[in-house]
Amino acid sequence: MIVLKFGGTSIADADQIRAVGDILEKCLTRKPVVILSALSGVTDTLIRLAQEALEKGSKSIDPIRRRHQKVIQALGIEEDIVGDLLQDYRELLKGISLVKELTPRSLDYAMSFGERFSVRIIAAHLCQRGIPAEPIVSYDIGLHTDAQFGKALPLPDLDGPIAKAIRGLKKVPVITGFIGKAGPGGDVTTLGRGGSDYSAAIIGSAIGAEEIQIWTDVDGIMTADPEIVPDARPIDILSFDEASELAYFGARVIHPSTMIPAIKKSIAIRVLNTYRPEAPGTLVVRERPPGAQVVRSIAHKRNITLINIVSTRMLQQHGFMARVFEVFARREIVIDLISTSEVSVSISTDSKGGLDDLVEEISEFGRVTLEREKTIICVVGQGMRDAVGVAARIFESLGEAGVPVRLITQGATRINISLVVENRDVEPAVRALHRAFFD
Ligand code: ADP
Ligand code: ASP
Ligand code: MG
Repeated sequence: MIVLKFGGTSIADADQIRAVGDILEKCLTRKPVVILSALSGVTDTLIRLAQEALEKGSKSIDPIRRRHQKVIQALGIEEDIVGDLLQDYRELLKGISLVKELTPRSLDYAMSFGERFSVRIIAAHLCQRGIPAEPIVSYDIGLHTDAQFGKALPLPDLDGPIAKAIRGLKKVPVITGFIGKAGPGGDVTTLGRGGSDYSAAIIGSAIGAEEIQIWTDVDGIMTADPEIVPDARPIDILSFDEASELAYFGARVIHPSTMIPAIKKSIAIRVLNTYRPEAPGTLVVRERPPGAQVVRSIAHKRNITLINIVSTRMLQQHGFMARVFEVFARREIVIDLISTSEVSVSISTDSKGGLDDLVEEISEFGRVTLEREKTIICVVGQGMRDAVGVAARIFESLGEAGVPVRLITQGATRINISLVVENRDVEPAVRALHRAFFD
């Protein structure tokens, strides 16, 4: 069996959905299991309409209805195929506008409609062209999570039930990405924005898939974000470790958690372009062959915050860091990078909420400042372990580009060097680094 996940950008309109059908037609002998995102832009619209219901009391679902009807008509499938779901969504907006409350729970429920619409439409299109296909909502085949709305984590021991459910199907399963349920009979949850990649990996790992394919709108994982570096190139092969670092530090093309289930079962991930299916894409495997370039790619994550603590109490005191970290842990604020000196520590986070309260609490340890609107840039490559001069080249190229660096760290595995710059410097910085390592 092989898992194919198509992102929103791959199913934006009827022509693209037909292209997805062409791709699936060619791999029927490998027993495809399809995972889908919502049509592109739909999740954002579902959120916007829910917020408008809260703030303005509006209950119009027109943008969502029109977006789907246009595709349904162009494909010539049954007009009313998502009618009952549209009705449910309308009821939800009515409820939000009445109680004037949009909880994380109801926001997840609102977002879940996108994937539930798309699986019905694409499965109907596949049936229409003679491929027997069945739309499936992930939680109906056992994708259960904890109850952290907006960033739910899959429960342990899902593999058996999911594999059993999928093996029992006669048709090509077309399964919702992104969503789950907090236990059987629980509330609908989502795995975090861009989470369909993660769903593909969870399901791929559960069924022991031969390969997990992530179909998107670029030729694979590239040497940098192509929106910033137009001549970024696709990378032929990456290790799980390299791809994990890139995903975690902002290469949007794969959701950061995608590698976790794949690593567990050592299943290769292949990132491919729906618009150019003939392109080789990027293969992500446990060990990439030796001899590849030292630096493989440059990722960036905008809008992070630096928290600086300056305290002479740190001097030769044991347990200082432990007490600071305890506060972060208790307040569920995720730490990305840490850099310390004898009397200061800088910590970066992309958590947005609760920072002011955190600062208040850790102010008992010393003088605390917050610096917002920063970007982490992460230079990744397994070959950096044995190479000399990479950091020198990073500093030299950023110096030439006139970009000040606020913080720098190297991970213990020595496959990444991360630095923090101002948001406004991200484009010149990424371009300068790309020139230094790839031109
Ligand atoms: P999908 O709808 O297929 O999930 P996404 O928008 O989530 O697509 O991810 C694909 C996009 O990720 C690309 O269009 C590209 O602009 C962006 N991107 C950022 N960094 C990278 C990178 N290093 N390699 C490839 N794409 C990247
Ligand atoms: N539709 C969801 C989102 O826009 C999940 C995904 O695209 O992977 O975040
Ligand atoms: Mg995505």
